[in-house]
Amino acid sequence: AERRRLAESRGPGGTADGHPVKLLLNIGSAEDLRPGAEGVGLFRTEFLFLDRTRAPSFEEQVAAYAQVFGNEEHVIVRTLDAGTDKPLPFLGLPREDNPALGVRGLRVDRVLPAVLDTQLDAIAEAARATGARPWVMAPMVTTVAEAGDFSRRAREKGIVTVGAMIEVPAAALRAGRLLRELDFLSIGTNDLAQYTFAADRQHSTLTDLLDPRQPALLELIAICARAGREAGKPVGVCGEAAGDPVLAPLLVGLGVTSLSMAAVSVPAVREALAALTLEECRARARTALD
Ligand code: PEP
Ligand code: MG
Repeated sequence: AERRRLAESRGPGGTADGHPVKLLLNIGSAEDLRPGAEGVGLFRTEFLFLDRTRAPSFEEQVAAYAQVFGNEEHVIVRTLDAGTDKPLPFLGLPREDNPALGVRGLRVDRVLPAVLDTQLDAIAEAARATGARPWVMAPMVTTVAEAGDFSRRAREKGIVTVGAMIEVPAAALRAGRLLRELDFLSIGTNDLAQYTFAADRQHSTLTDLLDPRQPALLELIAICARAGREAGKPVGVCGEAAGDPVLAPLLVGLGVTSLSMAAVSVPAVREALAALTLEECRARARTALD
């Protein structure tokens, strides 16, 4: 029934007055692809690397990425996000006392640059093999220097559209400057909330602090959306908040251009947006910020 509902819910997403909002899928592999969305907004590549004592080979990676690129036209692929809630034994990283604040996401590249190099090569090769033009982004980008370095390396491999996830408040505050290095941003509200409120995203006692309606988080999202508008570049949300039909209009009111979510959430988010004008979404955002 879920599959049918999603398949029936098609076409471009948008508000009642026709303001377009791309509705995209969060996937972990080609198996998660479904019809009815406008592409993939977050391809989490960790699945290939989980529970392994050795890194997946270049060829294995090419095959897995090509399977997604060959079946969906618009795909945003995220490079490996290791660490904290996604420990990857093959990396052999030392145990850390404070892993959420340690070597995770793009920071793994500081100690093991070959992992990202091989992955970017594999993404570029899978793109060539399928004739696709995937967008590529890095997780846990914190500074403009990191964004610039990632952008340069990805482009050297022939990747044309390069972006970053915004998961760290420092990066959100510098969104405008980041967009001089990058083509797009994707806000990961799960981690952005964790780092904004200094509250472990899996901590059951702190869920009120992690509520994405917290004005401090909304302010950071608004900064990113404004920077995107000024630069004429897309800024989406791919955290859990994007798939919540109550929050989605608010995020659109803040100015984000796409929402990426689990397939099961697409029909309800589509309906919620179609019921409101852009001005009504903006009014909700203003009220929430207040
Ligand atoms: C996020 O942090 O919001 C996000 C989408 O990434 P992940 O949940 O994979 O950390
Ligand atoms: Mg994250």
